[in-house]
Amino acid sequence: WSSPLSGLAHRKSLNDSLEGEVKAFLLDEGQLHTYDDLTKVNPVTPTTVLKCLQARYRAKVFYTHAGCTLVALNPFQPVPDLYSLDVMKEYHCAPQPQESKPHIFIVAEEAYRNVQGQVEPVNQSLVVSGESGAGKTWTSRCLMKYYATVAASSSLMKSQDTVERIEKRVLDSNPIMEAFGNACTLRNSNSSRFGKYIQLQLNRSQLLVGASVQTYLLEKTRVAGQPVNERNFHIFYQAKDCFDETVEAMVHLGINAEKQGHIFRILAGLLQLGNVIFCSAMDESQPCDLEEKSKDFMHRCASLLCVPVEELQTCLRVRTLRAGKQSALFKPCSLADCSVRRDCLAKVIYAQLFEWLVTFINDSICADNSTWCNFIGLLDVYGFECFQFNNLEQLCINYANEKLQQHFVAHYLKAQQEEYVSEGLEWSFVKYQDNQGCLDLIEGIPTGVFSLLNEECLLNRASDAKQFRVRLEKELSDNGSMSWDKFSKQPHFTVAHYAGKVSYQIEGMMEKNKDPVPPELIHLLQKSENPLLHQLFADRDPVGQGTRGLRQVVTVVSKFKNSLENLMKILHSTTPHYTRCIKPNTDCRPLTFKKEEVIMQLEACGIVETIHISAAGFPIRSCDCTDFVLVLQALMDSLAEAELDDAEDLQEAMPTELDPILRARGSVQLSSIQEPVMVRGWPMGLALASAPTITVSMTATGFQKMMSVMACLNGHCFRSGDYKVETNQFKQGVASIRAQPRGSIKLHYQRSPLLYADLHPDHKRDGVTGLNQILLEST
Ligand code: ADP
Repeated sequence: WSSPLSGLAHRKSLNDSLEGEVKAFLLDEGQLHTYDDLTKVNPVTPTTVLKCLQARYRAKVFYTHAGCTLVALNPFQPVPDLYSLDVMKEYHCAPQPQESKPHIFIVAEEAYRNVQGQVEPVNQSLVVSGESGAGKTWTSRCLMKYYATVAASSSLMKSQDTVERIEKRVLDSNPIMEAFGNACTLRNSNSSRFGKYIQLQLNRSQLLVGASVQTYLLEKTRVAGQPVNERNFHIFYQAKDCFDETVEAMVHLGINAEKQGHIFRILAGLLQLGNVIFCSAMDESQPCDLEEKSKDFMHRCASLLCVPVEELQTCLRVRTLRAGKQSALFKPCSLADCSVRRDCLAKVIYAQLFEWLVTFINDSICADNSTWCNFIGLLDVYGFECFQFNNLEQLCINYANEKLQQHFVAHYLKAQQEEYVSEGLEWSFVKYQDNQGCLDLIEGIPTGVFSLLNEECLLNRASDAKQFRVRLEKELSDNGSMSWDKFSKQPHFTVAHYAGKVSYQIEGMMEKNKDPVPPELIHLLQKSENPLLHQLFADRDPVGQGTRGLRQVVTVVSKFKNSLENLMKILHSTTPHYTRCIKPNTDCRPLTFKKEEVIMQLEACGIVETIHISAAGFPIRSCDCTDFVLVLQALMDSLAEAELDDAEDLQEAMPTELDPILRARGSVQLSSIQEPVMVRGWPMGLALASAPTITVSMTATGFQKMMSVMACLNGHCFRSGDYKVETNQFKQGVASIRAQPRGSIKLHYQRSPLLYADLHPDHKRDGVTGLNQILLEST
């Protein structure tokens, strides 16, 4: 029996002791920047993690491991020689790149070696996430350059033109995509306004032979209007800046001068269209007028888009209503509607042009299916967004981030914890957020927000935001992730995302989801004499009629959900590698580290939880045991001379009496120890064993493996009467050492899902470091 007070006192004393440990850790200020991996920080708290990152940033060290994740802090200034060819070579040629300084090239190289090693799943995904301006585009570019360099054919083959061109073409797709898909925003002067998944295709010899690009959710509204102090897509400004680079890239990809001419005329036409301003007509029954100056703009626009100017004017100002098969009614649009139509024309043309470019790029860089067999996918996704006003775009973006977070949790955290439990290891759960509730809220069928939005769009009536809010509340009020601000006058709903709460305004959401394009506009574009513009719309059904005359509504959210589902399927079938880009300050100032900004981002992507679990997943750092070590020393002695790299030498060095057993069973009874052996342990470490014998069993059989197991376990006299068992598994390829029921110990050769879980413990420090200490039972 214990009183609640004693519980409180206990908790207080724990808090005090943690506080003390944090203080003690932080005292050693000069050492903080040396923590290459945040899992080595002890104790792991947001404060200690943050202080280490800050110290590293101050020391101009921008990459840090956080267990299985790489944290990349944006320096906001060029760092000399950080990405040079020599550095690429250094990581590529390193026997153990993981032992080099943390770098994005380690992630790149890991993935590459996984493909080389054909470790299942062989295909790889590099997920680069972070908020706008955090460094995703930069990182993706670095990764592509890395592969274009290391996965390029040897100098001998370089002489072959085709081989050389493909790497260049893959790289050249970047400036074009950035010119047409990136823009200067308040948060980043080169912000990607679309998501992309680039598949780098490798042949049997792991050479880059092609690539393909899949894009998501281009922010096409930007072409018609930009928030204050933001800009349109870069391409519109490139007549002065970077134009040559874009044109050169176009030439390399096979976009010839004639096609370029068509593209630039279309873009110029859009610029003219943007200047067109309508004014009310004197006679309200007549279509709106054009402001005086706008008449010229209208003419130039029509001429550049190669469409008849009268028709252009009419379709922007007059609605055509079908009245039966033959006849049509014409109704002047309101002033507001005219502007909506103008913007809609610009958006639909730009979006279609962007899609065409992506297809063209793919045709130019995609390898023939027969020539490639594996791929490394590179996902550069927009980070979690929360603005003052959020609408359908943010809902889609945040939904994508929820999906990715779930994948991350499922892959690393949940899987790891479940594995610990299934192996019967004592394990105190690290709490992580399960965001399924939030996903149900958004994607649930039939009553998720997306389904309800689609239903509303199918009704083919003017949407009413207040009514929709009532509907949402009725259907979804029992979902804990949904709430409403009772005092807000605007119809809205608030979603509790894993990264924080976001309020979405409902006004305009249904319209955005329908994304309607007046059929008159499509008819007009189909008449264009600009061959490219004509081609962009030639196959499009202007009225969106299905074959049986039913209205076919392919909404924005259903398209987005589908493409995201396909992406998730790819991610699930590959080995993922996560890089979290962090923006150390909102003003993009070099070497400025704002703790509040950083901690919010670390929390938003679950980094602290990741560190906790990965730290706990470290293999043996040290342990107290007795007899077990003695047995191993005997064995190690007999193997001392063995040359472990060489299988033939190993065979000779193996004690003959073990050899047949090993060959037959792939496991060996180390010895018959009379006394119960206490081996203290923790997850992925050497764990509890109390039976009289210790069996070393292996998931992979074979003599050489057994030899390296033996070599992995080094026993050292630690303190009087205690022994320290250290492993050097990483070098020998043992992924983990685990306890099995009834006292056997299993040494895993399979690759651990935790990339760095199999790193060798820190030699320099005596005793136990890191979170494992917490998991150790006191003797
Ligand atoms: P995101 O794609 O996440 O929105 P970017 O990759 O465009 O962000 O990065 C924003 C800016 O930060 C870049 O234009 C560049 O100036 C700077 N930057 C990002 N990463 C680095 C880096 N590793 N070294 C130097 N500058 C960087």
